Amino acid sequence: MSDPNAPSFEPSFRESVDIMFNRAVALMDLPPGLEEKIRVCNATYTVRFGVRLRGKIETFTGYRSVHSEHMEPVKGGIRFSLGVNQNEVEALAALMSYKCALVETPFGGSKGGLCIDPRAWDDDEMEKITRRFAYELIKRDLINPSQNVPAPDMGTGEREMAWIADQYKRMNTTDINGAACVTGKPINAGGIQGRVEATGRGVQYALQEFFRHPEDIKAAGLSGTLDGKRIVVQGLGNVGYHAAKFLSEEDGSIITGIIERDGALTEAGGLDVEAVHKWIAKNGGIKDYPGATYVKDGAKVLELDCDILIPAALEGVINMGNAANVKAPLIIEAANGPVTAGADEFLREKGCVIIPDMYANAGGVTVSYFEWVKNLSHIRFGRMQRRQEEARHELIVGELQRLSEHLGDQWSMTPNFKQKYLRGAGELELVRSGLDDTMRTAYQAMREVWHSRDDVHDLRTAAYLVSIGRIASSYKAKGL
Ligand code: NAD
Repeated sequence: MSDPNAPSFEPSFRESVDIMFNRAVALMDLPPGLEEKIRVCNATYTVRFGVRLRGKIETFTGYRSVHSEHMEPVKGGIRFSLGVNQNEVEALAALMSYKCALVETPFGGSKGGLCIDPRAWDDDEMEKITRRFAYELIKRDLINPSQNVPAPDMGTGEREMAWIADQYKRMNTTDINGAACVTGKPINAGGIQGRVEATGRGVQYALQEFFRHPEDIKAAGLSGTLDGKRIVVQGLGNVGYHAAKFLSEEDGSIITGIIERDGALTEAGGLDVEAVHKWIAKNGGIKDYPGATYVKDGAKVLELDCDILIPAALEGVINMGNAANVKAPLIIEAANGPVTAGADEFLREKGCVIIPDMYANAGGVTVSYFEWVKNLSHIRFGRMQRRQEEARHELIVGELQRLSEHLGDQWSMTPNFKQKYLRGAGELELVRSGLDDTMRTAYQAMREVWHSRDDVHDLRTAAYLVSIGRIASSYKAKGL
């Protein structure tokens, strides 16, 4: 069935997000004007600043875009890449608003970016540049625990977040909640266990939840479980590495292809994700990795015959130019915007199931939310109750032991039961449990709309309907 919102040209990233948004709001009954209010980006700040490096002044351009302030603070990562531009930052900020609403993290949407190749500068230079960029944003409250809270994205990680947090504290020495100005910090700088792995872990939990629903598995033309499924991953960075690692090590999936900047590796029997990751860290790319076939034109491997495709690098990689050749029946968008609106239309018609970005990679913002709450409460999760929980479990185990001794050997406890049951949950277990619950609940909200409405044929439209509905309710409650 032909979609009136379908593009006949390859739209930009920002246009792609709006086309998908428009497709969903066409199915909603929003008060006049509210649709426009939700769609537009509230503000985008552009900064150009100079840093003295290598004997001369280098000028950098950065952005922080605020899409929707229906809830505050607004939240969204900071990206360091040469491809950063206003259009991209605004598209990513919009996705953040929808994502936060979908997974019920109480934030509006924002995103930032700095136009830079982080590999071109050494550590000291990167610190100088990052601190200066942070200074420009902090003095305009575009980094602030109660207004705007960044996180890592492509090209940034714990190191940059620690510099940003420290810069904020230097400029706001009496703000007791200063650590909450940014998430994704290292543990010893106010971070939380499980944040580094969170987005990849969320991709794993999303797929596990998908495979709990036989109707959905069938819709993708698949069967069975994640065990033995052939997976191709694009981008072995933070998100792609963790997703591929957990899926292969814990769910029995086989990683048959890994695509990186300098080409791709394929191996029908499965690639060792840890070994490839170490190889990249040591050699700067995947070329010459032993024991796998090297494909120079990496993007071609997106077209490899596989069960699940995980684009986890950048936007627009599956587009009108290659969509017809993509064979995967199930795509999970670990990256933001990897499938353009044109390709999305084509793949939907073909019957491919796409688990959309705003849900698939929401693990990062979910655990960022936990980190922000931890920073504001100034206490580690589990610290108060862990030992008390263990003491209560000890009582039950003691009682069971007494009964089993009385009843005889066949009633004795299974080995390791005592040790496993006695252990109270630490921060990492609690974070993973909260993340798993979030991913399950959000998936169920999406699939309910997908299966209950005759006019909704895909998970992306369902995701938009859920999130736009929640943002609209929030605006209505404010009297807008
Ligand atoms: P990253 O910088 O850690 O990793 C990106 C990886 O992609 C790198 O290994 C890089 O070499 C590779 N890459 C770059 N260009 C490529 C190309 N043309 N072909 C193949 N590989 C290429 O970034 P990340 O944090 O893993 O982010 C990846 C995606 O996930 C982005 O779209 C980002 O917005 C999204 N995301 C990240 C997070 C997070 O918590 N880090 C959260 C939500 C969404």
